[in-house]
Parts: sequence; structure tokens; C-alpha cells
Amino acid sequence: MDNATYGSGTVRPEQKSGLPTFVQWPAFPFHGDFRLKPIDPPVPREPERRGSDPADCVSCKGRDEDYLWSNERWRLKAPHEPSGLPVVVVLEPRAHLDLGDLSSMHAAELGLLTVRLERAVRSLESVSQVHVNRWGDGTAHLQQWFLGRPTGYLQMRGPFMTMWDEILPPVDRRQWQSDLAYIAAWMDED
Ligand SMILES: [Zn+2]
Repeated sequence: MDNATYGSGTVRPEQKSGLPTFVQWPAFPFHGDFRLKPIDPPVPREPERRGSDPADCVSCKGRDEDYLWSNERWRLKAPHEPSGLPVVVVLEPRAHLDLGDLSSMHAAELGLLTVRLERAVRSLESVSQVHVNRWGDGTAHLQQWFLGRPTGYLQMRGPFMTMWDEILPPVDRRQWQSDLAYIAAWMDED
């Protein structure tokens, strides 16, 4: 991790306490006295993720009307309510597939759509950078997240932006709806 960008360089007094250096980075949202949680031992067998059975998969059951944008093989959704970041959208394949399951055609389309979405979100005045993430721990159906960092908020650069999304007050609802409509229109353009 590049702590020259996000943090305080090579000064690491906190390491004496067993804490990682990132607790001192400007981007880390909290300050005060911290203690590490005990690390759970690894489980012998990992549990199924949500939607491992397609019959129970929320993404597969979702209607197109609940999505911000869709085409033959992909759909894009936004949360029901605005959150702290200007834009948070999630790209999903229409079929019940995870990242490693994608055909060459799906993979090529994901690349094109990722670039197009990044461009669309970053073109908003309210956004400076777009974080593109796929974690895959929670759900079996591929979800690729696009999170817009608010313009000028250098403190939010880096890996803690999902925390800031819940810390910042929700953005203005009308502006949020307008930005989402703009992104959907951009996705329809070739
Ligand atoms: Zn599914």
C-alpha cells in the first residue's frame, strides 16, 4: 500500500503498540486509542456465500425496473437511498455468474463497461476519482462496485473510502438522482 500518498511516510511509532501504520494516515477515519481485536482462527470449511443457490439469489430475482440501467447481459444498480459519496453503483451480469465464471465474451464486455462507467462517473463535477472494487466475500453473484470520491476531499483518498461513505452525511437527493440519470444515459451511448 502506498502510504506516501495516503499517510505519513516512514514514521512508525505506532508499531510499538502492535498497530499498523495506517491508523496514522490522514485517510483513516478514526483517532484515539485503539486495540487490535483477537484474530479468529481459520475455519476448516468456509460457509456458502449469499445466493450460492441461484434460486435464492437476490440479484437473479431482481426486476429490471429496480435497476438503474440494463442491457441484454448486464445490469447496473444504485442503492435505494443516497449515501455519503456522490455516486455508488454496482454492475452485475444478468446471468448467475461470478468473476471467474465469465465467458470470454462476458469478460470482454466487463472490460468495456468498466471503462465506460469509470468515465461516466468521473465526468461528474462532484467526483474526482472512481474506485472500482470487487470483493466477492458476501455474494456468489458477481458485483463490481464503482465508488466516486468527492471532489476536493483528499482525506478520503485510498482504501478507507467505503467507511467514509457511511460517515459523511447523505448527499442532496435531487443532485444524486440527477447524477444517476446522467450515468444511465451515458451507458446507453455507444
Ligand atoms: Zn444470481
